[in-house]
Amino acid sequence: AELDTLDVIVLGAIFLGTLAYFTKGKVWGVTKDPYANAFAASNGVKAGRTRNIVEKMEETGKNCVIFYGSQTGTAEDYASRLAKEGKSRFGLETMVADIEEYDFDNLDTVPSDKVVMFVLATYGEGEPTDNAVDFYEFITGEDASFSEGSDPALGNLNFVAFGLGNNTYEHYNSMVRNVNKALEALGAHRIGEAGEGDDGAGTMEEDFLAWKDPMWAALAEKLGLEEREAVYEPTFAIVDRDNLTAESDEVYLGEPNKMHLEGTVKGQFNAHNPYIAPIPESRELFNAKDRNCLHLEVDISGSNLKYETGDHIAVWPTNPGEEVDRFLDILGLSDKKHSVISVKALEPTAKVPFPTPTTYDAILRYHLEIGAPLSRQFLSTLAAFAPNDEVKAEMNRLGNDKDYFHEKTGPHYYNIARMLASVSKGEKWTNIPFSAFIEGLTKLQPRYYSISSSSLVQPKKISITAVVESQMIPGRDDPFRGVATNYLLALKQKQNGEASSPQPFGQTFEIAGPRNKYDGVRIPVHVRHSNFKLPSDPSKPVIMIGPGTGVAPFRAFVQERAKQAQDGVEVGRTLLFFGCRKASDDFMYQSEWEEYKKALGDKFEIVTAFSRQGSKKVYVQHRLKERSKEVAELLSQKAYFYVCGDASHMAREVNAVLAQILAEGRGVSEAKGEEIVKNMRAANQYQEDVW
Ligand code: FAD
Repeated sequence: AELDTLDVIVLGAIFLGTLAYFTKGKVWGVTKDPYANAFAASNGVKAGRTRNIVEKMEETGKNCVIFYGSQTGTAEDYASRLAKEGKSRFGLETMVADIEEYDFDNLDTVPSDKVVMFVLATYGEGEPTDNAVDFYEFITGEDASFSEGSDPALGNLNFVAFGLGNNTYEHYNSMVRNVNKALEALGAHRIGEAGEGDDGAGTMEEDFLAWKDPMWAALAEKLGLEEREAVYEPTFAIVDRDNLTAESDEVYLGEPNKMHLEGTVKGQFNAHNPYIAPIPESRELFNAKDRNCLHLEVDISGSNLKYETGDHIAVWPTNPGEEVDRFLDILGLSDKKHSVISVKALEPTAKVPFPTPTTYDAILRYHLEIGAPLSRQFLSTLAAFAPNDEVKAEMNRLGNDKDYFHEKTGPHYYNIARMLASVSKGEKWTNIPFSAFIEGLTKLQPRYYSISSSSLVQPKKISITAVVESQMIPGRDDPFRGVATNYLLALKQKQNGEASSPQPFGQTFEIAGPRNKYDGVRIPVHVRHSNFKLPSDPSKPVIMIGPGTGVAPFRAFVQERAKQAQDGVEVGRTLLFFGCRKASDDFMYQSEWEEYKKALGDKFEIVTAFSRQGSKKVYVQHRLKERSKEVAELLSQKAYFYVCGDASHMAREVNAVLAQILAEGRGVSEAKGEEIVKNMRAANQYQEDVW
């Protein structure tokens, strides 16, 4: 493959010894090491970096900052897209910023010719994302005080707000709603509507697209911006490093950071720095032929990681080689699979989302969500690089016509490479600057799992219970496969010496990891603490609703209470509602429950609901209803009530049934019953761990 023009330009510049870009009359020179790693600078060494956003904007000539509060990467992705669009359509000088990295008490000094955007996801029970906790507490706090002390405090501030939420949760989009309210109360001026995207209805992307156009119009008017024809400008330069090979020591082959590359890894293990944990055991939990559910043990004894019963473990997945190859193939990059490149931010506030120098293979395998659902806006961006006019027209139509897009893509579970191949009928897309993918695809995200072991029983070993995502697609000969769960399946197959048949798909995962660092068998993980916890007093009764893999944290809860009972502690009633399809197929941990029963005796009962056994479909909420009397009685003894698993239907129905039970039990209206459930939630007596 040829070098693309950008590479040639950049290489030329480097050979001259200085690297300077001339953009819109501004010059910035990249001094010292032109290969300096932007990732290390942004995520590792933070010394000397300002936390003053106004100063930062002045320094870098920006008039628009987009703060994101992101947990799974979507909010971050939307923030980047707003930045990109603001720049290309309106010539705004935009920057994206992790809200955690700046102070807020000087928001009152942002001049009125600038704008601050907030893209904020709501997490769990109406909580801020981890990186937005401090901001949220500050801005909604009673005594948020600002540097100038003027009145109203934020009278100069222009802001834009978009929230990412899920209507199946009680506190839908509460982050953006509360932040919006707080900012307005402080006198700030919102431009456009405060947008709300709904993941529960599956309309996040469309909600975002529908919100942003009127917002841009309002912003253009407010700031007197002139719209121009959007021209794609890459944010990153791809620099060929012909003097390096994939064997060179300094080349990242998927190592998440410098410590991992150099073999000097130490804690803190967190979302920037995983622990490469041994997997002493992996096994299948289902008896079904066509579905898999995995049980894995993760050994954390070699680390300083700790967990408590009810916490989550994050697994850092890798993409299968088959999809990496498909991606390289359609871009005509197969020859460069193992070529070494550096990725350089072309403007000072942009961050390269992975460490370099690295290879195309490593970027696609370890760092980008190449399997994820398509973004309509991204197809629009790529239209300009179509191999011919017909394909370009089709891409534009897909990008601009919502119904057509859904009709064409909906049933296929396309990822980006499959989509491009389908639209161009296999013709290669050799004109897309690789930067477009670094900007347009989400960073590969860790997947969370509710830990299914008790820290009291096995403090140094974390259990995972994960159902493998796999789905036949009409008109396609291979199924759609979820990324992380198929990676774990492949790992289990390798560990147990099983064939990954019928397809060799599983073998295309690089189970041994970069430079075989995961050999033996290991996976990168970190632990996330949660509020999903057993009552501190073990004699309190607990009611747990956990169909399917929703049973994961309850295996931990029951394991813990069985141990307590064995140790002579008084343990309260432990009532578990479990549901699956058939007792013979997917009744996970069936024999284990019997063991726990021996320790807990009559205190423990598992109530089962089978949806494909017998003529009637029975679900956990039906069984819950049948047990109304006992449930009401236990709740009056201050039982804790827990729900885990499917957020969209089950959790909501269980909530409704519980309200009915309370209403009947206490002889009050259903509305009152619902209010009691709300109060239980507020008092932590009703806890959800749903996804
Ligand atoms: P992904 O590749 O992420 O795909 C997930 C889904 O996204 C697919 O099923 C599909 O509906 C959609 N999708 C993906 N790509 C496309 C595409 N190209 N086109 C259309 N649709 C697409 N899971 C468990 O099994 N056990 C647990 O204990 C557990 N606990 C959790 C706890 C928390 C707090 C959270 C947030 C989630 C939990 N999950 C659990 C879910 C888990 O994190 C993963 O989401 C799940 O395992 C799927 O991951 P994956 O990478 O295999 O699938």
